[in-house]
Amino acid sequence: MASIRRFMALFPDEQSCRDYLFSLRWPRGFICTKCGEMRYCLIKTRNVYECANCKTQTSITSNTLMHRTKLPLRYWMVALYWVASGQRCSARKLARTLLIQQRTAERLLRKIRLAMHKSEPTLLLDFWNREKRSAQQPIVRRAMQKMYREARAFIRRYYGKRVSKWNRLYYYYEYRFRSNYMHHFTGALSGLILASCTTIYTLNEYGRLRERKSAS
Ligand SMILES: [Zn+2]
Repeated sequence: MASIRRFMALFPDEQSCRDYLFSLRWPRGFICTKCGEMRYCLIKTRNVYECANCKTQTSITSNTLMHRTKLPLRYWMVALYWVASGQRCSARKLARTLLIQQRTAERLLRKIRLAMHKSEPTLLLDFWNREKRSAQQPIVRRAMQKMYREARAFIRRYYGKRVSKWNRLYYYYEYRFRSNYMHHFTGALSGLILASCTTIYTLNEYGRLRERKSAS
């Protein structure tokens, strides 16, 4: 489990969060989504990256789970850290710690839990659905049942007995995510951020964008 000290060393300020997001999003350097140009200029006042060729502006958070956020990136990182390090994280606790409104904290956590769902690498989705479970082969069914029992125990332990149906689903995602990424804090963090990002390029896509650019 990552310590808060390690977290603070990783993200001492806004710039370090931005650098981290940049390296996740553009691991091979900036690339314009529109035209594939790799030269850019940073507009410091608004923290947006402007393509040197077509002048399209991209912010580091656009199309990620932080899309159009008005909160400081460090707030997000704190919430992500909490969740990724396996601690219980309620909206109330988050709101109190960051001095933000409870509704803002709820929205933030909901987005994170949705990202957890998207980062699910296995095909054992919907293990909480009785019909889907019983439609499986015996070996898969048993695995899903085990998961279901563990998930329910997790929810009882973390969030108590009285959980709304709507929230329960999010907690199932959370349970899966936490068991996938146990003891792997940075993996969990990048998993969450990448899961909801629609503009991460694979090597292939980089190649294609470069081709398109040299053809025009
Ligand atoms: Zn461009």
